[in-house]
Amino acid sequence: MSTIAERWREVRARVDAACRAAGRAASDVTIIAVSKTHPASAVREAAAAGATDFGENYAQELAAKRGECGDVRWHYIGRLQRNKAKLVAGQVALVHAVDSQELAADLGKRAAGVQPVLIAVNVAGEASKGGVAEADAPALARAVAGTANVRLDGLMTMPPPDVDPRRYFDALRALRDRLAGEVGPLPVLSMGMSGDFEAAIACGATHVRIGTAIFGERPRVE
Ligand SMILES: *Cc1c(COP(=O)(O)O)cnc(C)c1O
Repeated sequence: MSTIAERWREVRARVDAACRAAGRAASDVTIIAVSKTHPASAVREAAAAGATDFGENYAQELAAKRGECGDVRWHYIGRLQRNKAKLVAGQVALVHAVDSQELAADLGKRAAGVQPVLIAVNVAGEASKGGVAEADAPALARAVAGTANVRLDGLMTMPPPDVDPRRYFDALRALRDRLAGEVGPLPVLSMGMSGDFEAAIACGATHVRIGTAIFGERPRVE
């Protein structure tokens, strides 16, 4: 049984090695420790070991944990219902999974300043998953980029499990490159999880979202 601190150091070393292998600086890639379903004590343990950025999927859980974890940066990485936008806006460094202009507008209205966001793209076209279809991403990107008090920073995706994810990571990066010509710089590519973050870094990820490899298995509640 390894501790959270040990697993964090191992993930940090693997991310650094993947960056070196890709000819990228380790500072290019932000590790988001995905703490959903784990207690605040686990967040504090990872933070003490060096983790700076944490990801949550459930608005209420995030709101409850925020006060108990000290000075860390939060990311909202899950699907967000519009009626929960007020719990998240202005409280997180980045909202990763915006999938409608209406949600972006709600976040902008509720943020005290400017809320940075990503658009979630369903690159594999899976019916069970959120995110916008690749074909609809350009129109949504233009709309979100034009939304008051919201800054569009890039794209995120979550490929299907049990397939080689690289074609989906490459597709997201190519889409980002195309859209950046239209809506301005989109520096962030949020892709890669415990099972595939090295491939994602090779394909250009700037933010990897890693839960299980740092915190261990989650109770199955999803
Ligand atoms: C839970 C979750 C992760 C982390 O997954 P692991 O396989 O545990 O690393 C990453 N991204 C999203 C959107 C998630 O919901």
